[in-house]
Amino acid sequence: MTAEFIVDLAAFAANVRAVRERVAPAEPMLVVKDDAYRHGLAAIVQRAIVEGVSWIGALDVVTGMAVRELAGAQPRVFTWMLAGPDDVADALSADLDLGVGSSALLEDVATVAAQRGTIARVHLKIDTGLHRNGVRPEDWPAVVARAVELEQDGLLRIVGIWSHISEASDSDDDDARVAFDAAVTAARAAGLAPDLLHLAASAAAFARPEFRYDMVRIGAFHYGIRSTDGPSDAELGLTPVGALHAPVRRVGPVDVIVDAGFTDGLLSTAAGNLHAATAAGRQPVTAIGADTLRLPLAEGIEPGQTVTLFGADGADSATDLAERIGTIGEEVVLRLAPDVPRRYIG
Ligand SMILES: *Cc1c(COP(=O)(O)O)cnc(C)c1O
Repeated sequence: MTAEFIVDLAAFAANVRAVRERVAPAEPMLVVKDDAYRHGLAAIVQRAIVEGVSWIGALDVVTGMAVRELAGAQPRVFTWMLAGPDDVADALSADLDLGVGSSALLEDVATVAAQRGTIARVHLKIDTGLHRNGVRPEDWPAVVARAVELEQDGLLRIVGIWSHISEASDSDDDDARVAFDAAVTAARAAGLAPDLLHLAASAAAFARPEFRYDMVRIGAFHYGIRSTDGPSDAELGLTPVGALHAPVRRVGPVDVIVDAGFTDGLLSTAAGNLHAATAAGRQPVTAIGADTLRLPLAEGIEPGQTVTLFGADGADSATDLAERIGTIGEEVVLRLAPDVPRRYIG
């Protein structure tokens, strides 16, 4: 036996429904970057399709193509990290929607669409302050004018306008929203007619209805990973999906040794902050080695049992633990050691 990352697909399905209800009538996009936040792309996409998810956000083209393969022709798949013409060609061959945040990439899309004889579906990105590959406001009018031309040439259609916000401060987000609205107004005045405006990720989509527009891009909350120092899982109506279980290897004479399987992982830094849910209740982890950890001796803990280190069974959630060690819940799951296998339930 080794440690396992247990992924509860029933919990995931419940989160999909909770997200959908919360953001309606806006459309939720399920974000699956980083191997579906370490929960496993294939199983998550397959379950998402069963649950009727119709938009999937895949970051890069390789992931987008994998999603298309898994998900079939129906859902829209959005990618927003494209490195040039080869990426664009691959994306168009898999019928992906393209996030475009520079005039150079817009030209690449037009060139490749012309070669292929297809009409590319483009979501134009305005930089609203985060400075992560969006069109700067000063360049926006020229890029929009060029997009209008390329639409008229039949090479692409601007189906969406979008941006990304920090969700770290309401006032920064408010400023971003003002910039976003201005960009949309300018684009419409210039002749674009996007159907899909999208700005918010998990936190703003839940907390701030005015940020929802037509669509919201939700990663963390679909996996039951709440924001640090934000509302509780219960308040959000979400359940953690992934949990780290570890087998008890040896009991006594002085303590309990657990095979934790997190060599090089973030948890190796969690000494003093990590608790385990055990047959004897919640126990503090007293020492953390390269791939084992130690618990105090306690009545009821026996070799062959498993303990839960986060995510279920009364242990901390990934975000609870993140708050103790000064990071975010995503980090706790993304920095699990790569050799910890997944097992699916639900
Ligand atoms: C990761 C990502 C999201 C999802 O963010 P969460 O906070 O996990 O919901 C949304 N949009 C973009 C552009 C992203 O990179």
